[in-house]
Amino acid sequence: MEYAEQECHSPKMIEIEEMTKVMLKQRSELEITLKDINNKLSNLKLKHIEACGDIGHDLHTEREQGPYGERFTYCSRCAYSS
Ligand SMILES: [Zn+2]
Repeated sequence: MEYAEQECHSPKMIEIEEMTKVMLKQRSELEITLKDINNKLSNLKLKHIEACGDIGHDLHTEREQGPYGERFTYCSRCAYSS
């Protein structure tokens, strides 16, 4: 059995496969961390908009470029738009 495994997987291959497993695990953990950071950033953006709304948004209305340009309103201090 051991002989067959060695025949199929050289020590070099086994080392590479182990390293690949370690890297895949690290990547998976980092992806979870990144997702968590993105969620926190989204929440902070909403809180920033709310906090700005508390003191009153600094709203500006403009018309989009082009023949059917629609009007859009945005705040100059935060990410609020409508
Ligand atoms: Zn605002």
